[in-house]
Formats: sequence, structure tokens, C-alpha cells
Amino acid sequence: MNTAATKAREHIESTYARRTPKSAELSDAAGRYLPSGVVHVSRYTKPHGLYASHADGARKWDIDGNEYIDYFGGHGALLLGHNHPRVVAAASAQLARGTHFAAGNELDILWAQKICEMVPSAERVRFHSSGTEATQMAVRLARAFTGKNKLMRFHSHYHGWLDDMTSGYISHFDGSAPIGVPASVAANSISIDPYDRAQVERLLHEDTDIAAVIVEPLGAATGKVPIDAGFLRQLRDWTRANDVVLIFDEVVTGFRVSPGGVQQLIDVTPDLTALAKIVAGGLPGGAVTGRADILAGLDYDPGKRGKREKIFHPGTFNACPVSAAAGLETLSIIQQGEACARATRAAQRLRQGLAETLQEFGLDWIVYGEASAFHLYLGGEVATPADFDPEALGRERLYRQPADVARLLRLALNINGVDFSGWPGGLVSTAHDDATIDATLAAFSASLEMLRPILAS
Ligand code: PMP
Repeated sequence: MNTAATKAREHIESTYARRTPKSAELSDAAGRYLPSGVVHVSRYTKPHGLYASHADGARKWDIDGNEYIDYFGGHGALLLGHNHPRVVAAASAQLARGTHFAAGNELDILWAQKICEMVPSAERVRFHSSGTEATQMAVRLARAFTGKNKLMRFHSHYHGWLDDMTSGYISHFDGSAPIGVPASVAANSISIDPYDRAQVERLLHEDTDIAAVIVEPLGAATGKVPIDAGFLRQLRDWTRANDVVLIFDEVVTGFRVSPGGVQQLIDVTPDLTALAKIVAGGLPGGAVTGRADILAGLDYDPGKRGKREKIFHPGTFNACPVSAAAGLETLSIIQQGEACARATRAAQRLRQGLAETLQEFGLDWIVYGEASAFHLYLGGEVATPADFDPEALGRERLYRQPADVARLLRLALNINGVDFSGWPGGLVSTAHDDATIDATLAAFSASLEMLRPILAS
């Protein structure tokens, strides 16, 4: 790195540190109690991550008083932005009425009914506390229903952190078990490059022990490694022909890309769907939904289960009433209104503006993404946006961005009052109005200016 680049890097890091002394202090203190000082891997960054004090609409503030336009969106949970007044009112009212009754509650039914009205594949619903649990239950339901063992997944598609979902996400692409996971569990997962369709087809026809295929239907990380609808249609055909359960993981895309998720948008109905995030209105919650005959595996009535043993599934906070109230209100807003289309329009405007800014700077980065998601490809090898062909670049190239550039870009954006997620990219909400998008574009431009000597080096 030349002198100008070293200076630019030092300037970004020192400016960030100067603006965030209280975050630095808390980050040091956190290291004493929390591994790496964080509670979620995406918050681990150097010199330290931000500590937030509050949020509202499209914005959040750190404990040093700095304001940020937020594109993290509660890891995707906040399509309506932070603290939507109707969602706050519904959750607060329920909080005052009680948080756990150890008894049925009308919200259980209303929430499930709303999901069945909105999601094409939804016939019955089982609630959980997170997306991780929802995907795991989808796999268990599939195994119970088919009597088969193996799970087919795609490299870098994220389905939570439980044992079945680990190899082939960010490591162990050879199918070996990451530390802490038994080799016997990893052996029941087949993880395949999402662009190797021939192998997917062959295995689905030849391996008679595959119970289910699970897929992020926009592609890994909400479309960072895009998948096209044609492949999803093929998957639907191949799974149906081979008695394999097709699971869409719509934990992020559900109620975001359309009120009924990707499946509604492209008219491909999976057997099971995993939901979380928006479904619980920004509070903890998840659900698995889909074919009634498959969900019957959870039924007490042996007649309904078709002689199979009942699937084990307790869970203290299944359909937690506060999450149910927030979720029901959020889904009602999305069902009746324009929310998905509005967030999508704002994201289109943002993607367009980011692309224009990149052009002004003469950078060969690419902005892409579907619906209200956006991604930045920082990578070279693509002459113009028209030449951007994800399949030709391949999963590995798309997924592995130059980590230090991504980190410095994020710090520079923070300095300029914007928080993108570190991959880099983000999610847009209905609270991101035109003025907010314009402010973001100005901040992006100012951030690239700070990075210019580094990118030129
Ligand atoms: N599936 C997908 C596609 C996700 O993005 C996530 C979370 N980022 C999960 C599953 C896991 O959800 P949770 O964090 O609620 O366990």
C-alpha cells in the first residue's frame, strides 16, 4: 500500500475512533464477559462495533449521539422500519396484559390464520422462537414424512446455525463437519454449489435417501449469490418426481419481496416454508408452515399422522404473545397496504443512485439485488454492469469480497451517517423515503472520496 493509501486508512480509522469513544469503551468492557465482545458475529469488527442507544423509522443512534440511516433493518426483521407506531401499540398493549400464560391465546389462531391467508404454501403453522428453529423443524418434518435421512443444501445458503446446517455455509465445502458438530450429522447433509444444476438433478434422481432440499429462494444471503426462478421451478419438478420435500427458507424474503414471499412472486409453491423476522414484527419468533399432511407429523391424533410416531416439539416461547401481537399487526399492515412495493421502489432508487455514484468515481463495483435488498460486488473482473453475470463469476467470487475494503467502506459510511451491513449491502424499509435515500447517496459519495487513495493503490 502506498503512502496516500496508508494515510487514508489511518484517517478513516482514527476519525471513526474519535467519533465513537463510548462505543470503544463498552467494546473493551464487553470483551470481559462476551466471547470476542459480541453477541452476534455480524457485530464483530475492528477497531470496534457501534453500541446503539435508540432507533426510530429509518434511523438509529449510537451512545455517542451519532445518527445513522440504518440499512441493517434488524437483520431483516424491520420491513416497516424501527418502532412503527401501530406495531409498538400492539406489542405494548400485550406486554401490559401478560407475556406468558402457559395457556392458549386467541393470538395463536389469529397469527396462524394471517400467515395462511398470505403465504401460498401455508395450510397449517407451527410457531417457534427463531428462524433457526423453524428451518430445523422443517427438516425434521420432512424426515418424519418421507422416512429418509439426507438434507440437500446449497453452498453459502444460510439456514441458521444448528448442526444440520453448518458444513458448506462459510467453510467445510467438502461436507466435513465443523468443530463441535458430529461427523455423522454432517454426513447427512449434502451441500452443493448452487450453480451446479446438473449435479443437483442427478443426485435428486439417484440418491434415494434424500428427505428434503432447502433453499434461500432469492439465493444465498437474500440474493447475494442469485438463483433464478427457472432453477426453482426445476427444483419443484425434480423434488416432486422423487418424493423429496421442497423447503423454501423465507426467513428474510417472507412478507418482504411480496406479501406472500418469493413463492407468490414466482408462483412456485414449496411443500414447507420457514419464516421468522418480519413474521414476528421485529420481536423474536419464527414459524414453519406448509402442507397439512406434512405438519400432521406434529399432531396428537394418530389417525391424522398416518401411524407415524409423533414429532417431539415443546418450546417455552413458541408464539410468545408479545411477538404474536407485533407479528399480527405487522402482517396486517403488509397484507392491506403497499409496504412491500414501497420498500422495493425505495431500494430501486437507491440501487440506481449507488450505481451512478460508482460510475462517477470510475469504479468497477456492481450494485445489484432484488426487491428491497441490495448488494455491492467490490470485485473487478467485470467491465460494465451489463457484463455482470453471477453464474459466470461463481458463488465463491460473489461471496468472498475483499474483507478489508468492505470493512473500511463500512467505517467510512458510519462516519458519514449511514450503516450498511458488512457483506456489504443492506435492506430497505418503508421508512426510507426519498430524502433518506438522497442523504444516503451523498454519504456514499463522501465515503468513496475517503476511500479513493486506497482503491487507487
Ligand atoms: N434463514 C435465513 C435465510 C436467515 O437469514 C436467518 C437469519 N439471518 C436464519 C435462517 C436464522 O434465523 P434466526 O437468526 O432467527 O435464527
